[in-house]
Amino acid sequence: MISVIKHRDLKKVKAVLFDFDGTLSTLRCGWEKVMRELMLELLGSGLEKEIDKYIDESTGIQTVHQMAWLRNKILEKSSSALGVWEYKDEYNKRLIKSIEHRTNDLKNGADPQSYMLTGTAEFLESLKKLNVKLYLASGTDHCDMSKEAELLGLSHCFDLILGAPEREASCSKEAVMRRLIEKESLCPSELAVIGDGKVEIALAVEYGAYPLGVASDELAREGINPAKRSRLINAGAAAVIGDFKELDEILGVLGIC
Ligand SMILES: [Mg+2]
Repeated sequence: MISVIKHRDLKKVKAVLFDFDGTLSTLRCGWEKVMRELMLELLGSGLEKEIDKYIDESTGIQTVHQMAWLRNKILEKSSSALGVWEYKDEYNKRLIKSIEHRTNDLKNGADPQSYMLTGTAEFLESLKKLNVKLYLASGTDHCDMSKEAELLGLSHCFDLILGAPEREASCSKEAVMRRLIEKESLCPSELAVIGDGKVEIALAVEYGAYPLGVASDELAREGINPAKRSRLINAGAAAVIGDFKELDEILGVLGIC
């Protein structure tokens, strides 16, 4: 079900910037648990609530920033720590291991629908048919996200795919948004940003794009996750969906038909 939080005059959307994990793909469902375990292991017990709060708030930013937070916390307790990229490598190694069974499943011919929100492929194909430009940007490493989008059979839908650049802390979501608005002269009101993290929703609000929140339940792959819904509304989402089943309604909210 789509809930419209703020009605506003919207020009017909000509371009959509998508987040990937938790918005389209559920391949990395459970990343929070992997990060929580790593943080607890390195910081010791007693910080569970603080860690959970931080992970919740930081959803959608580059992993390296989350690891910088971890490193600062380690330095509050100890005089030495590894570099942020070393923590990121360790987290990434653990995460890739924890989702390997899913990527292997796809490589062995499993139906990609099993690892996407319901209606994802149909929604993207419809937007393509309607000549909407589609961009994919993520805080996940570029090469990993590209591989995962390919495994899900979604790569061909996008005009540009941009994940986190290797060993750089720049924000790919903001980079794409700036490029579209400043270099390609796209009017912000013709751009929609669709994501499950408050980072991309806040960026959309800042740039004047249309913020459509995806309060996804990544296990069920459809329906609403109430905690995510509140987080997205607080970040400024103009409307919230849980999946892409109600195609016509979503296109209507985007002013496309
Ligand atoms: Mg996400």
